[in-house]
Amino acid sequence: MESVEEKIRSLRDVLHEHNYRYYIEDKPTVSDFEFDQLLKELQQLELDHPECFDPNSPTQRVGGGVTKNFDTLPHRFPMYSLSNTYSKEELEQWEERIKKVLGEEAAIAYTCELKFDGVSISLTYENGELLQALTRGDGTQGDAITTNVKTIKTIPLKLKGNYPPFFEIRGEIILPWEGFHQMNAEREALGEPLYMNPRNTASGSLKLQDSNLVAQRPLHCFLYALAGNQLPVRSQFEALEKARSWGFKVPDSAKLVKSIDEVFKYIQYWEEARKKLPYEIDGIVIKVNSFNQQEELGFTAKAPRWAMAYKYQAEQVSTTLKDISYQVGRTGAITPVAQLEPVVISGTTVKRASLHNADQIEKLDLRLGDTVYVEKGGEIIPKIVGVNPQKRGVLENKVTFISNCPECGSLLEREPGEAQHYCKNETECPPQKIGKIQHFIGRKAMDIEGLGGETVVLLFQQGLLNSVSDLYRLKKEQILPLERMADKSVSNLIEGIEKSKEKPFSKVLFGLGIRFVGETVAKKLSKKFKSIQALQQASLEDLIQTDDIGERIAESVVTYFANPQNQAMIKQLQSYGLRFEEEVLEHEYHPAFEGKRFVVSGVFQNYSREALKNEIEQLGGTLVSGVTAKTDYVIAGEGMGPSKKEKAESLGLTVLSEEAYEKLKS
Ligand code: AMP
Ligand code: ZN
Repeated sequence: MESVEEKIRSLRDVLHEHNYRYYIEDKPTVSDFEFDQLLKELQQLELDHPECFDPNSPTQRVGGGVTKNFDTLPHRFPMYSLSNTYSKEELEQWEERIKKVLGEEAAIAYTCELKFDGVSISLTYENGELLQALTRGDGTQGDAITTNVKTIKTIPLKLKGNYPPFFEIRGEIILPWEGFHQMNAEREALGEPLYMNPRNTASGSLKLQDSNLVAQRPLHCFLYALAGNQLPVRSQFEALEKARSWGFKVPDSAKLVKSIDEVFKYIQYWEEARKKLPYEIDGIVIKVNSFNQQEELGFTAKAPRWAMAYKYQAEQVSTTLKDISYQVGRTGAITPVAQLEPVVISGTTVKRASLHNADQIEKLDLRLGDTVYVEKGGEIIPKIVGVNPQKRGVLENKVTFISNCPECGSLLEREPGEAQHYCKNETECPPQKIGKIQHFIGRKAMDIEGLGGETVVLLFQQGLLNSVSDLYRLKKEQILPLERMADKSVSNLIEGIEKSKEKPFSKVLFGLGIRFVGETVAKKLSKKFKSIQALQQASLEDLIQTDDIGERIAESVVTYFANPQNQAMIKQLQSYGLRFEEEVLEHEYHPAFEGKRFVVSGVFQNYSREALKNEIEQLGGTLVSGVTAKTDYVIAGEGMGPSKKEKAESLGLTVLSEEAYEKLKS
């Protein structure tokens, strides 16, 4: 018979291997479903046997730990930056300098690699297990973001093959375009300002305190350098191949070449080909291949002499800044937009460029009439990257960020720590009102058939639609006279609105557009509070006690319901028959559970934590996350924190063991 320990060990090995096949080799041999089943089995076993904990278990991929402050730790080998150039002449000069050191006759081979545009990371492995992940920081010390890095699936937690007992490996953590666009689509749905570019977004993601959130970000990692005292290789290209054999993701775009002419060919090839890559690169890195030669060449204070980055010039044009306009989003976020003299970049005419926020304008020190450089990278909106100092506009025209909303005139606000200005006049500011209605009818909310965003604008302008509750008062005769409104489409529209009354509470709640209340949060809130009435009465404390609801969301909910205009609108919607209550399923609750509040803590013999929580909810109980005087039962598993226990006892709460819980149920 296999012991539990052996079982756990073999499950971990199997899962590490599947992870490798899926993420590194791109050749999965099991279905996602089978993978999830194995992972669940392991999770359960680990829960039941906390003594078998392993910080590098495949279960750690989903995140877990929250890091309040990242430790700053020294690098064993400094992390250098790279010298860079935009010109081929300078590359030739670089080779000349190298030959002065190595001798004119020296044969020099180069490894050419892509320069990934992300966040550099140094990973330490001991006996084939990931020990630590440090950011570059200032090159001599960086931040330990190990817990977050473990959630990145392309980073092996356990190595294969014949690796040295102790070494470091460096690479770049990147966010591919697809993930970046997907994250921005979610931001858009929430009415939040968009992320600027994949690199900043990757960097921000790695600094999140909650590793569960990091796990949800589609980050990847490419490795490109080994560091250590006794490496089993003597050249860069071998290093890449070895790293690949140990289970690291090393892209096969790297190439070993024998002359600087071949380097140029590589540069030329990727100049076009990079546009089709699923992630962003900002150039090519050229490294002298032989470690012996590298050692002879050594380092300057900042960078190795044996490597050079060739950066691609992003296509840049200069044009005149005519004006700045300000857009107001659904949540009131203000985005400054540069109005440009139209120019053609990469085949498209550009008239506008995003300036993101006030800081950006300040950084560029913009003046109206300035000649600005505009760049269009990949698929993102064009941006202003600089000002031509020779052709400056006059000082008097310095751009100062507006202080009042361009649409409604109210004073703008900027929260400390936030980059964006906001118009807080939610209920009267026209674009916010239109945006709210558009959000309400959207596919993920009420999904009203026959009604689109444009029609909302038209109806708003005609004075027929001022808030979402007006939707349910619309009459066919009112709409028919409007332009482009055929009889059939108007009937569809009215029918669509009527049908939306059937939508469940969670969709209605999401549709209200409360800041930070996305689809998932709306589902959680409706499940926990069951009705709008209960939700309106919930205190900040009650809300924070809900699983996965933080202070920021809780505050936003309380503020929303405190507003009398919102209250009035909800009343109206109720009177039109929208659903403001979670549908009660046809089953009986257990009398000992119904309406009672439960805290679940520790590890259990016969249940996973999730299963236990589900059961409590099914029996009619409510889960809360902290022990307070309002808690009815604390279900205490093994390893429940002593302070929690003490608190529960001092409050005189009923603390139930797993056994006692079974009795309560029967
Ligand atoms: P820079 O930030 O312009 O000084 O460029 C140096 C950075 O380029 C390094 O710190 C790495 O993060 C990054 N980089 C991206 N791809 C590579 C690569 N293939 N080899 C070395 N460094 C790279
Ligand atoms: Zn406004």
